Amino acid sequence: MAAIDGLPPLREVIAAHGIAAKKALGQNFLLDLNLTAKIARSAGDLSACDVLEVGPGPGGLTRALLAEGARHVLAVEKDARCLPALAEIAAAWPGRLDVVNGDALEVDAAVRLTPPIRVVANLPYNVGTELLVRWLTPPVWPPFWQSLTLMFQKEVAERIVARPGSKAYGRLALLAQWRAEARIVMTLPPEAFTPPPKIHSAVVHLTALPEPRYPADPKVLNRIVAAGFNQRRKMLRASLKGVAPGIEAKLEAAGIAPTARAEEISLEAFCALARIVAAG
Ligand code: SAM
Repeated sequence: MAAIDGLPPLREVIAAHGIAAKKALGQNFLLDLNLTAKIARSAGDLSACDVLEVGPGPGGLTRALLAEGARHVLAVEKDARCLPALAEIAAAWPGRLDVVNGDALEVDAAVRLTPPIRVVANLPYNVGTELLVRWLTPPVWPPFWQSLTLMFQKEVAERIVARPGSKAYGRLALLAQWRAEARIVMTLPPEAFTPPPKIHSAVVHLTALPEPRYPADPKVLNRIVAAGFNQRRKMLRASLKGVAPGIEAKLEAAGIAPTARAEEISLEAFCALARIVAAG
């Protein structure tokens, strides 16, 4: 099947430009353009949006984002070996793709984009988690992005969407669900990638809420959640002892049993406790 953009299949692109996958850069490429199209579609309507793509590699997902109608794509890639392949894509879509050769953890991409902005990435998992936490904790809310569509290790994706009472429930779930709506939109087996990683992967789609689900000071909430889950087997009256004086009474005022453990507590109750702790 001929590609919509007239560009060669990704295997040929990789061979022509000598982009053998490097483990150190977490390079597991998606070569099936049907699959990249599916991921691009799961990001929502792109036609009126600028898209930030992190880690385009040889450009499978980049091509899909453009073919799905993204108004403009800014792609940030650390590996300079990918630049000639990405330049070919830019030439096939004049004026629609800009490429920055750099580390996504250091490049301030938001200033180069016009809202509304959607973020899409198939990144190495460690970089993905670090960026997710940064994107979820900006100094002001709403953030620069309208949605994030990110590939993760399946187990990390499950931690992002986890509900109270489950083993996966923790800081990542609370951070993600406090100010965004998060769901898993796709799971992928190792064979979907070249070379195949050891684990299954999943795509998580997060939509920024206009304001947090429940009011709370982000710093206080973070302190409580961090302390509670750092010692997740302990009762909250013990794990939160250092967070504020008289924590037992504050827990009770928030409707939380002091003998409960962090993993049983809902986001709403954590926010109620954060407001009581902040009030002193
Ligand atoms: N998006 C491509 C795909 O789906 O086939 C490539 C995915 S591969 C898992 C991850 C890509 O992220 C690689 O191209 C790698 O060079 C790039 N990368 C790794 N660390 C990065 C970083 N800190 N900043 C930007 N790109 C990075």
